[in-house]
Amino acid sequence: MNDVEIKEKICQKARDLGAGMVRSCSVKKWSDIPIQEPEFWPENIWPWSRNVIVLAIPLFAPMVQTTPSMVYQELYDTSNRILDEMSYRLANYIVSELGYRAIFFPRDCYYSIEVLTENPNAAFSHVLAGCYAGIGSIGDSHNLISREYGPRMRLVSVITDAPLAEDPMSEEDLCIHCGRCRRECPIQCLKENGDDIYSMDKIACTRHHVGLKNDHHWPCGKCISVCPVGEDMKMYRNVKAVTPEGMVHCQKFGS
Ligand code: SF4
Ligand code: SF4
Repeated sequence: MNDVEIKEKICQKARDLGAGMVRSCSVKKWSDIPIQEPEFWPENIWPWSRNVIVLAIPLFAPMVQTTPSMVYQELYDTSNRILDEMSYRLANYIVSELGYRAIFFPRDCYYSIEVLTENPNAAFSHVLAGCYAGIGSIGDSHNLISREYGPRMRLVSVITDAPLAEDPMSEEDLCIHCGRCRRECPIQCLKENGDDIYSMDKIACTRHHVGLKNDHHWPCGKCISVCPVGEDMKMYRNVKAVTPEGMVHCQKFGS
């Protein structure tokens, strides 16, 4: 099998496992377009690695828009379970059926939200991997934005030495720089700074999450909720995804 055929088999398997989008890039992207320090580069962690496969699943806008609520929390937790299972099964397929090395980098890559208040950096950025693999571009809110789902998606990555045809990075900046994420952040931790994307107070964002978690309705996700980009929002062009009363209802019960 050549690299295109191997890629097609892996993409089909990922879709069968529930992935909405599947793209891949070479591990060389981390050094060719360096954004993170070398200690984060996949090759410097697993020297046999050649490619990273990024899987995305959608978060449903009418549920995200109830945030912070038990409805959104359960959506978030469900997406985590699916990402864990999908990435494990895909890595296992590559190892046992195709005969190549493979592992998955877990979807959240931090021990707990409290730990992030000391050091708000995960061991691996699926946002960056998704950007290198062409799932979308990084928006002002620091979220990865895709044409299909806007920022309302969750990601996980599988690292392998299987030879794979690489996907092109998105040439288009999908963020329309509307500022909604900045204006509607409940703690105003996104700020204009004249750069391409907003500066972000990650510690403040994390502390806000700790507070929400202690109140039993987290994560925040307001910035992904209000972003107008994404084909997923077209379904709600002529109708509210959720009523204001419905939001209050979802926030009032079960949290
Ligand atoms: S997750 Fe919430 S607190 Fe953090 S940047 Fe987005 S809107 Fe602000
Ligand atoms: S809300 Fe507007 S500025 Fe923020 S990421 Fe989305 S498109 Fe960009």
